[in-house]
Amino acid sequence: MPGRVVVFLGVVTVPNEVLQVIGGGLADSEAAWQAAENGISVRLFEMRPKYTTPAHRTDLLAELVCSNSLRAAGLENAVGLLKEEMRRLGSLVMAAADETRVEAGGALAVDRNAFARLITEKVQTYPLIAVVRERVTELPAGPTIVASGPLTAEPLAAAIQKALGQAHLFFTMPWPRSSRPIRLTGMWYLPLPVTKKGTLLI
Ligand SMILES: Cc1cc2nc3c(=O)[nH]c(=O)nc-3n(C[C@H](O)[C@H](O)[C@H](O)COP(=O)(O)OP(=O)(O)OC[C@H]3O[C@@H](n4cnc5c(N)ncnc54)[C@H](O)[C@@H]3O)c2cc1C
Repeated sequence: MPGRVVVFLGVVTVPNEVLQVIGGGLADSEAAWQAAENGISVRLFEMRPKYTTPAHRTDLLAELVCSNSLRAAGLENAVGLLKEEMRRLGSLVMAAADETRVEAGGALAVDRNAFARLITEKVQTYPLIAVVRERVTELPAGPTIVASGPLTAEPLAAAIQKALGQAHLFFTMPWPRSSRPIRLTGMWYLPLPVTKKGTLLI
């Protein structure tokens, strides 16, 4: 299937072919794991530690770049239900979260280092997954999952924009400067204003 690109998540059946996964974040690690669990060989490309992003601090896969909370744990709301569904589907991220959970009221929060270390170890030692520490510069041919996150390194970001025919890709919306702390699932959060280019306005 030359030139086929699957943007973001979705496990595809690829007999006798290697699935390429671009990025070693949360989505990528889960995607690689699910594909491998279905018997598919995977090459996962992660650019760190040779290159990094403005937010990442380690060379670990599935590094949480901000909050260590995965939001509500209870089943009485949508995010809690979604996590339970992921558990029942054999999610690597959820297994790691449950194993490295820390006290956070009604939220599911994790020890971020233990969480990322566990996922890194599981992915790197999985026989069907090869972790390649290289920066991807263009969309490769062949079956590919692109999950390089909101801080996708150039020139791949430009290649994605071109492939999707969009002038801009955003992962967040500008927030008013008057943001006040909000309380969610027993924890306090301070929403900070961010420009369309991702610059924090404090
Ligand atoms: C500053 C900041 C704060 C955030 N805070 C929160 C929060 O509190 N809660 C929340 O839910 N979400 C938050 N987010 C959004 C957060 O990025 C996502 O929740 C989550 O990290 C997305 O996972 P991902 O796997 O899609 O991307 P990521 O976790 O970003 O993983 C993408 C991976 O791809 C790698 N990569 C990028 N480009 C290339 C390339 N060209 N070649 C090879 N590898 C590449 C990166 O190094 C990275 O490891 C925040 C994002 C940022 C930038």
